[in-house]
Amino acid sequence: MLLLCFGACAQTESSRAEFALGTVCSVTLFDQSRDRVYRDIFSRIHEIENLMSVNIPASDVSRINAAAGIEPVQVHDDVYKVIERAVYFARLSGGAFDPSVGPLVSLWGIGTDTPRLPSQKEIDEILPLINWQDVELDPHTRSVFLRRTGMALDLGGIAKGYAADEAAAIVKNSNVKRAIIDLGGNIVICGEKKDKSPWRAGIQNPGYNRGDIMGIVNITAEHSRAQTVVTSGVYERFFEENGGRFHHIFSPFQGYPADNGLLSVTVISHNSMDADALSTAVFVLGYEKGMALIEAFPGAEAVFVFEDKTVRTTNGVKFALTDNMFRLVQE
Ligand code: ADP
Ligand code: MG
Repeated sequence: MLLLCFGACAQTESSRAEFALGTVCSVTLFDQSRDRVYRDIFSRIHEIENLMSVNIPASDVSRINAAAGIEPVQVHDDVYKVIERAVYFARLSGGAFDPSVGPLVSLWGIGTDTPRLPSQKEIDEILPLINWQDVELDPHTRSVFLRRTGMALDLGGIAKGYAADEAAAIVKNSNVKRAIIDLGGNIVICGEKKDKSPWRAGIQNPGYNRGDIMGIVNITAEHSRAQTVVTSGVYERFFEENGGRFHHIFSPFQGYPADNGLLSVTVISHNSMDADALSTAVFVLGYEKGMALIEAFPGAEAVFVFEDKTVRTTNGVKFALTDNMFRLVQE
């Protein structure tokens, strides 16, 4: 996923990017370059990665997974908070968002050097392991237990949002007036633009080529209240085999990449962790159920882009198409 923020970038004096959380994380602090703030932000992002990545054997999440079916694992408060919220969204979405998708992510290997189309038998074998209701949380000991051997958490659908919120909190507590934090398409905008006009966030054309945008969302943010724009789409990670394209957001019910006519879902809200989980959940749920979920969630808006090149939005979004290959449908 990629959102291009522009319209104010001319004011920028600095921008920094580092690879973390499996993606390019870039931070732009406007008006002045402030080394300490950049340092604090990136060290916080790396700290979160070290706690939550399944690719880091010593991370808390890896330790939880290694102890699946054996024993509860005490975790850092950050990790507890994110898993608790992930389970909240799992419940809210009826299991469409499920942080226990780990075995599916490993089986398909999408985003690794060796992705492959698994057999139905392999999928059927691991599906029973994917169940957020078997994630046991103990608030007293701050520990997490996966009830069955072979279960595994994967926070790829929510951790970047949390990291983006944490980065925004650092901006808020600093004397930087405005900033854009972009963690692989999880965007948080802090503060007003100098001329008070809205920020303009481009939504990527979710064809399989990166970089083009198909529409623009106007965003109004304040220093005290950041805004976030998060997209889940088919184009972020995928592979091709047997003439099919397989992306990285799975239906926990079928064990296949979610396939319901959507190419991408963008969620606009105040909290990036929530928006991250919601965008993944809505992508799996599809348009009707996804729309109902967003409408019931206070402060959230969404833009849906479909395979047939139609675009639909919730009522509160200030969205304009920029690519006439697409068609905005107002219902
Ligand atoms: P991105 O990783 O492109 O930012 P998402 O936020 O939608 O996109 O997260 C997709 C990631 O979330 C996958 O790479 C995987 O790690 C994890 N994931 C895949 N399917 C699900 C699901 N149904 N529920 C929760 N997490 C998922
Ligand atoms: Mg997500």
